[in-house]
Amino acid sequence: MTTGEKWVYMFDEGNKEMRDLLGGKGAGLAEMTRAGLPVPYGFKVTTRACIEYLETGTFPPGLREQILEALRRLEERVGKRFGDPTNPLLVSVRSGARASMPGMMDTVLNLGMNDEVAEGMVRLTNNPRFVYDAYRRFIMMFSDVVMGVHRERFEELFQEKKRELGVTQDVEVDAKSLKELVEEFKALYQREKGEPFPQEPLVQLFRAVEAVFRSWNNPRAVEYRRQNKIPHSWGTAVNVQMMVFGNMGNDSGTGVAFTRNPATGAKELYGEFLQNAQGEDVVAGIRTPMPIARMREVLPEVYEQFVRFAEQLERHYKDVQDLEFTVERGRLYMLQTRSGKRTAVAAFRIATDLVDEGIAEPHEALLTVDPHLFEQLLHPQFDLQEKAKHPLLATGVNASPGAAAGRVVFEADDAVKMAQEWGRVLLVRRQTEPDDIHGMAAAQGILTSIGGATSHAAVVARGMGKPCVAGCGALQIDYEKQQFTVEKDGKLILVRRGDYVSIDGTTGEVFLGDIPTVPSEVMQVVTGRMRPEESEIFQRVSRVLQWADEYRALGVRANADTPRDAMLARRFGAEGVGLCRTEHMFFGEERIPKFQRMILAETREEREAALADLQPFQQQDFEGILEAMDGLPVIIRLLDPPLHEFLPQTEEDIQNLSAKIGIPAERIREKVRALHEVNPMLGHRGCRLGITYPEIYRMQVRAIYEAAAALKKRGLNPVPEVMIPLVGIVQELEVLKEDLTQVAQEVLQREGVDLPIIMGTMIEVPRAALTADEIAQHAAFFSFGTNDLTQTTFGFSRDDAEGKFLDEYITKRILETNPFEVLDRRGVGELVKLGTQRGRQANPNLEVGICGEHGGEPLSVAFCHEADLDYVSCSPPRVPIARLAAAQAQIRQPRQRRRKSPHEAKGGLL
Ligand code: ADP
Ligand code: MG
Ligand code: MG
Repeated sequence: MTTGEKWVYMFDEGNKEMRDLLGGKGAGLAEMTRAGLPVPYGFKVTTRACIEYLETGTFPPGLREQILEALRRLEERVGKRFGDPTNPLLVSVRSGARASMPGMMDTVLNLGMNDEVAEGMVRLTNNPRFVYDAYRRFIMMFSDVVMGVHRERFEELFQEKKRELGVTQDVEVDAKSLKELVEEFKALYQREKGEPFPQEPLVQLFRAVEAVFRSWNNPRAVEYRRQNKIPHSWGTAVNVQMMVFGNMGNDSGTGVAFTRNPATGAKELYGEFLQNAQGEDVVAGIRTPMPIARMREVLPEVYEQFVRFAEQLERHYKDVQDLEFTVERGRLYMLQTRSGKRTAVAAFRIATDLVDEGIAEPHEALLTVDPHLFEQLLHPQFDLQEKAKHPLLATGVNASPGAAAGRVVFEADDAVKMAQEWGRVLLVRRQTEPDDIHGMAAAQGILTSIGGATSHAAVVARGMGKPCVAGCGALQIDYEKQQFTVEKDGKLILVRRGDYVSIDGTTGEVFLGDIPTVPSEVMQVVTGRMRPEESEIFQRVSRVLQWADEYRALGVRANADTPRDAMLARRFGAEGVGLCRTEHMFFGEERIPKFQRMILAETREEREAALADLQPFQQQDFEGILEAMDGLPVIIRLLDPPLHEFLPQTEEDIQNLSAKIGIPAERIREKVRALHEVNPMLGHRGCRLGITYPEIYRMQVRAIYEAAAALKKRGLNPVPEVMIPLVGIVQELEVLKEDLTQVAQEVLQREGVDLPIIMGTMIEVPRAALTADEIAQHAAFFSFGTNDLTQTTFGFSRDDAEGKFLDEYITKRILETNPFEVLDRRGVGELVKLGTQRGRQANPNLEVGICGEHGGEPLSVAFCHEADLDYVSCSPPRVPIARLAAAQAQIRQPRQRRRKSPHEAKGGLL
């Protein structure tokens, strides 16, 4: 720890580059302050202070003093004093991490309030209703966030008060009742905590700062980080800011707005405003606010000013902003700006619009698209004909687009449980809260009866890419009976837990029953069922991906085992096949018995005969794939899995096989016993098979070059490359390569075709990476098989790790993320870099890539870019994700080495 470290910054200190230290909210507030926007003044405590606190359990030395000093400067600047009844300063204490985590951590408003300050404020404002409303909110939030007395306990008292008064709306509760409520709240606090509610503002402040630090580790924030792959080590900053009041009457209020529609991307202010209320009310979805456009009618000048600020901020950040603001007696204050979370459709629309409107350059617009979003565009939609057959139950706010159908559940835990049993569930709630996110993640979609387009349900659903219909007021939800009713045409329709309901998040419609879905527009275009010109979204995606291709330095190939996948991959923009697995080719109904006969053969002649039977099948597959990828490289991996995977294991299956292929059951049983392995992952597989049964690999190589020769004769340009798996010792490669090169040459000579013979290897055991200099002398290319390399580097077997302990490792922070999803830079990544460097030193022409799931995961793609690889290879639908991620990596951190073969438009649709 550094003594004398600066833990506290005033709002006009620091800039947007200091977001790691000041948090996103703090950096945004600083940026707005400096741009001259009306931001209530304040200061921020750094994320480093939070980390120190979480590690040691106490404030780091100097923090307390620096906070007091900052408070003094704040008082001076705004001309009010903390705890002074004659001129009181109230503040909010707000969390704010580096990455936005909406609603996941805690905020306390109206801090600095106590009995004396309240009385003073009544004298000053002549508005006791406002003062006691602010006070009761403060007690509730402070108790909940700082002291762990649940907010519901206070809400209950508030509801009771409303019942007594015979009113339904918060704003109808008068000053006298609010003052009574404050006393009741304090009494509740005293009962729960065994001490009076703290009246000393500085005590309130320091406790609140600690509580915000601690909220970094509350379960919902931890869960959110897990889902969004945000490191647990970042910590949150704390913003202490002078309060402005939206609850001072009807010329006051609070709102949230996006500069563009985050569901569709349309250029329109999108958001909500709530008169006479404090911020919490909108975000929590407790009261249903008015659409932002109506603010123009109630507060026209404020509205115009807000529109100007919104445009200014969008131009400044060159991206859609998600804004929070408060109006105090006709004066507008900006409280937050951040990049708005959006759906995939919106993201691609906005990126292209920003460029067309001259707000951003293509490379800037590219950075606004989260590559993961592309997957959403592949999700199915409702079949329109089927949709028309289902009764419309009600319509709510179209909060997050897409189609979802499932059986209704009413609790988050129930959603998780029943998703296991029923498959598809739909979570129905009055409103969701941060504690519900695990249930939202398990559900197909979310339906709420309260709250609008910026309610928690809406924001989180959009973030997850899940369909959501919010604020569907027609639903009368009864949690106790686990059902809801809707009155329609004078009749009451009852929907119980377990009944099917379908929601269309694009239109806001809610239907009874289970409506079937059809492929998305993008899928329809890619599979040739729709023309590109017919789909606007397709064209926008295509433009963004063209930009991506202009920037990226990393090549993108696909993993494809069938001609169909290869074709699809090419349409998604793949520049070749980085991994074609051959084992799947042995599983077809006609093929597997032949392969089994090969395994069961007792002599080499028998085995060769069985293999000769199989060769035409392999050849046919290779022809299809090479044809689909005509002109582009196709890396074909020779047989990899252990042979016992192809044999039956149970007695019954053994008997059946015996009957089918006419080999005695006893011989099969014996073979199964002989092939049994203690640890198959580390067993007789990969090139080890090739060494012991050379005729298998020979047959495969023959099939590859026969296929290529046939295509060549048809005037095509096949580029096959042969990949030998699991090499760890250079001699393995040497022996196999010599033998297989000869086989290939024989074929080419016999066919009279000229074709380069390209052979390389997978690097998937640490020894291969460490001895890469030797191996590279015999290899034209390296392909890091990062799935196996992760297994062998960690010594984890993936299925066991994921099934048994990885989750706990992540919860206990032993690992930040699952290394099978996000490439482990520290260990596996180091081997990749080392292998690449040593390999290229020995063989400057060596081509290096990775294949496997990591190749389509944006963080791992960024790593591959930094590690100077030539390409990544991933599953066909992830090709566009990898293209985007690669472009972003180059824009953020340019490098020299460019990919060899620029994307050939020929055949590429996207
Ligand atoms: P979150 O990260 O959950 O959005 P915030 O810290 O942004 O939490 O606070 C929630 C809401 O509280 C804000 O949208 C704003 O309306 C209100 N708020 C926060 N600070 C102030 C303040 N100084 N004055 C008035 N309202 C505030
Ligand atoms: Mg906020
Ligand atoms: Mg492997």
